[in-house]
Amino acid sequence: CGVFGVIGVADAANFVALGLHALQHRGQEAGGIVSHDAQAGFQSARRFGYVRDTFTSASLMETLPGPLAIGHVRYSTAGSKGQTAIRDVQPFFGEFAMGGAAIAHNGNITNADALRRELIERGSIFQSSSDSECIIHLMARSLQRTIPERMEDALRRVEGAFSIVAMTRTKLIGVRDPLGVRPLVLGQLGDGHVLASETCALDIIGAGFIREIEPGEMVVINADGIESHRPFRPKRPRFCIFEHVYFSRPDSILGGRSVYETREAIGRELAKEAPVEAELVCPVPDSGTPAAIGYSLQSGIPYAMGIIRNQYMGRTFIEPTEQIRNMGVRLKLNVNRALIRGKRVILVDDSVVRGTTSQKIKEMILDAGAAEVHFRIASPPTAWPCFYGVDTPNRDKLLAATMSEEEMRAHLGVDSLRFISLDGLYRAVGEATGRNADHPQYCDACFSGEYPVEPADMIEKGFRL
Ligand code: 5GP
Ligand code: SF4
Ligand code: MG
Repeated sequence: CGVFGVIGVADAANFVALGLHALQHRGQEAGGIVSHDAQAGFQSARRFGYVRDTFTSASLMETLPGPLAIGHVRYSTAGSKGQTAIRDVQPFFGEFAMGGAAIAHNGNITNADALRRELIERGSIFQSSSDSECIIHLMARSLQRTIPERMEDALRRVEGAFSIVAMTRTKLIGVRDPLGVRPLVLGQLGDGHVLASETCALDIIGAGFIREIEPGEMVVINADGIESHRPFRPKRPRFCIFEHVYFSRPDSILGGRSVYETREAIGRELAKEAPVEAELVCPVPDSGTPAAIGYSLQSGIPYAMGIIRNQYMGRTFIEPTEQIRNMGVRLKLNVNRALIRGKRVILVDDSVVRGTTSQKIKEMILDAGAAEVHFRIASPPTAWPCFYGVDTPNRDKLLAATMSEEEMRAHLGVDSLRFISLDGLYRAVGEATGRNADHPQYCDACFSGEYPVEPADMIEKGFRL
């Protein structure tokens, strides 16, 4: 998901709509905006579909007045049951002591089922099936005297990954979980301030980058300035390494590193680790593009657009049902036949999850008369589900959970298949000596199976580490 918030500018909701548009790659199912204005109080709008289609009408934006607004773009993740209902679309808003608050959350709360049971037993009335709603109820029950203190109280009970943008009537609040699994940045817009999942959402509204919110930090912003709090016991940060590989936009800066340059470096590492003779290096667009450029630069094999993407389709993986996902690849990608015929082709993609994408692409490439197909993948085999806010399927659907690399190659029917090593990936994100096995610098659970936060709800449902 993507989160965004603005304080201290006129018509804040308009900026939020633009910011969410820049974060659309983080969630395409639905979006929501909550604003606050002295006269109108809290106002909210939730819509299915792309922000550019749903939050542009002047009449809708006029219903969201005020100098303070937050928003969210959603895609459903682990734990969510089937299709999103409109009641599950964030931000969540609740009125309770001291005027209430609205909250937008990116990540996944790993003990949400247990918290929900407890809260319901004690009388809370849930409006949605979302894990994030727990936070509002915990805040409403807290005995603290200010909303930021209630939020600290609530978040100390919550486990898992959370980057949060929240608002009261007068304050904009940003929080990252103690490991800092998901990103969150702070920016400046005129006299006002901005919180956003990624820097690309600051760029779109011309906001300046101030800094990242630190892992375990809570910032409380109002007209007087920015206060920084440390509500949690400090831990070693474990940022999601897959944000660098796939999830973030290539024009964003994460931890001081250009996502584009990291992806190009991954391609270079791949070319060193897994060279192969071929005539062309082609990306699987768009997510494989920077890594393919890196592979081409390192290997000297020409880069070419062997697969053309229809720009009007969304990200395949995020379509919620298996059936649409299966069709999706063909709806979105087509082979550039004239270029491929008779050539040995290296295809670079960011990840293999179910293998659906790679399978379809291989068929299309061979159909077009390629002499050989070699897959090079910019992440290690995805053998474990993510429980921290990225939508991976159950373990039994992950190709790498049940097959060796050679079995996957045979299953996909390609001439070769190689993944970047975990150490190679760490080098590409700037860790010169690779992964520190005792204290891994990132979360890499979907590749290593080492979960930095115990996925308590999933274990209760029978998941085995
Ligand atoms: P598969 O078709 O193997 O199930 O999925 C791999 C494709 O899904 C890749 O092309 C990748 O770009 C895309 N993808 C989209 N979202 C995600 C995600 O959240 N996780 C992973 N691993 N891949 C994703
Ligand atoms: Fe990121 Fe993978 Fe960790 Fe999920 S499990 S937070 S995708 S590194
Ligand atoms: Mg892709």
